[in-house]
Amino acid sequence: MMFSTHLACGLMSAVFFSQYLDIKSKAVFFAVVLISSILPDVDMYNSKIGKKIKPLSFFLNIFFGHRKIFHSLLFAFIVCFLISFFNMEIGLAFFIGYASHLLIDSLTPGGTMPLYPLSKRKIKGFIDTYSFSDYALFVLFMILFIYLLL
Ligand SMILES: [Zn+2]
Repeated sequence: MMFSTHLACGLMSAVFFSQYLDIKSKAVFFAVVLISSILPDVDMYNSKIGKKIKPLSFFLNIFFGHRKIFHSLLFAFIVCFLISFFNMEIGLAFFIGYASHLLIDSLTPGGTMPLYPLSKRKIKGFIDTYSFSDYALFVLFMILFIYLLL
């Protein structure tokens, strides 16, 4: 999925969940959801976030591969659990953003392996990155985001 589609999905998810959760700091909650909605692509050095930290991203790609551990829901659960020891709200925000990324990456032909490294079973779809459907999803998420704000 495009960077902007991930951000739009993160934005929509942040607004959606902020309505149902008792959040102390909405600014921190939104920032963490948005950052974690693009964070999984840190395993790809030519992604928008990967380009910002190219040496680290290059290293992560060589050692862990793209769409493996950093695109695992299991990994997201563990990190969320660890963060929650210190701050439950940030842990939850991290999981919401990260899971939103994994969910829509699962709609692409490349798919994701939600239980990696325990299982290499893939969930995949048919929406190519930069395709019309990708742009349509971006527009849909933005419409839902605005709708949820109203
Ligand atoms: Zn991704």
